Amino acid sequence: MDQDDWITGRVTLRIGAQPVDLEMTVPAQPVPLHRMIPIFQQVTNLFVEASTGVAASDGRAVSCKAGCGACCRQAVPISEAEVQQISELVEAMPEPRRSEIRARFAAGVARIRPTGWFEAMDATVTAPPPEPAEAARQKLTDLALQYFHLGVPCPFLEDESCSIHPDRPLACREYLVSSPAEHCAVLASGTVRKIEMALKPSRMLRRISRIERFGPGRFLPLILALELAQDHPRELPQKTGPQWMADFFGELGRTQQD
Ligand code: SF4
Repeated sequence: MDQDDWITGRVTLRIGAQPVDLEMTVPAQPVPLHRMIPIFQQVTNLFVEASTGVAASDGRAVSCKAGCGACCRQAVPISEAEVQQISELVEAMPEPRRSEIRARFAAGVARIRPTGWFEAMDATVTAPPPEPAEAARQKLTDLALQYFHLGVPCPFLEDESCSIHPDRPLACREYLVSSPAEHCAVLASGTVRKIEMALKPSRMLRRISRIERFGPGRFLPLILALELAQDHPRELPQKTGPQWMADFFGELGRTQQD
């Protein structure tokens, strides 16, 4: 794309008492949503920076550091757009790395599938009320712990560090803690103190991504990204950069829970 194909805009948001200025350059032409992910990553980084600043000023500094990948054995929720982005990222890798990463995905799925975890998670997230919210939350917590205890590392985890750090999903960017690293290694201890995010762009992206390409309301864990992209090829909707940004920031007024 040449220079005329891009548009720059500015937005100021307030996180707590802190104003956050965003300057974004987006495609003027219609593009599929996953092409916008680098921009959503920048926005997420700014939100996370603002939230960690607030936490640090309250004496809760981030304790995460390179080489501690305990959280990378959790079920990372991704959006439909990130399924596409991750699939294309792996496709673009040179050999033999591409085959190695694909093999890690396949091994992870093969470890989890016999446990019935994917079906149980989908049944829980798509179950209609009237189950009390507390009971539903408990089921999700139990499933999250069950996944963690399977000990399946993210296919991108190498030497306990993220090998795709600049491209990692939005949910990974938002997951930071202020408690000692050893508590993350035993997630059930109840001693993990997460840094509270004022906004979760990962949820905003999940909502605007939703075209139910993989089935209504499904939970999309990172470990299934390659399989989902391969099994559900589809022409993806396209919008201009400003239209996608309007959709994204339109989610700001909605609850941050889903
Ligand atoms: S993508 Fe990176 S940060 Fe996210 S779970 Fe995988 S290794 Fe960890």
